[in-house]
Amino acid sequence: MKTAGRQKKQGKIFVISGPSGSGKTTLLNRLTQDKEIGKLLIKSRSLTTRPRRWQERDGRDYFFVSPGEFKRLLKAKKILEWTRYLGYYYGTPRGEVEARLKKGGHIGFCLDLKGAALLKKIYPKNTVTVFVLPPSLETLKARIEGRSRSTDKKEVAQRLKLAAQELSAASDFDYCILNNNLQVALKELKEIVLTHIAS
Ligand code: 5GP
Repeated sequence: MKTAGRQKKQGKIFVISGPSGSGKTTLLNRLTQDKEIGKLLIKSRSLTTRPRRWQERDGRDYFFVSPGEFKRLLKAKKILEWTRYLGYYYGTPRGEVEARLKKGGHIGFCLDLKGAALLKKIYPKNTVTVFVLPPSLETLKARIEGRSRSTDKKEVAQRLKLAAQELSAASDFDYCILNNNLQVALKELKEIVLTHIAS
């Protein structure tokens, strides 16, 4: 006899992408702190081998790991998707994501272009991709320089070069948001998320 168990609908994936300095992380952090959205959406925390920035906290912004630990987790298939960005590894831990989606919970991700494309490929039906555009390259430069307290001019230059390339991928995304004014961009992102959660 067949059981008439109703399968729970999988949760939604919201991938926020865009060049370094576009403000995508701030947008997703603010979104998950929103009273209404905070109850529905959590932010995925990635693993990274890059050094921690002064304002970042381990376990909140990233899980900071050594390259050896990253490779061990990768080999053990504990990483859902990963990328190498300016020489460092970044990856999404598999466990929490799969468990939450199965229960119908929603997750927001800040990923590079490769990660966005991959999640869309793995979860085509429930992934929504959003590209965040900076108002101008000058603003982008000021943001990247402003947050890197380090004297690493080379990394700032590399991020800027990559940002210019990344901008051309905007048309591959489901939505584009211009982050000229944080409150306006946040409102747009909130509308997108609420519409898809309700659908
Ligand atoms: P940042 O060093 O600026 O924090 O991150 C560099 C880039 O890596 C950003 O575009 C960020 O969104 C992306 N990124 C962070 N975590 C992950 C991840 O787990 N997977 C992928 N594919 N990209 C990530």
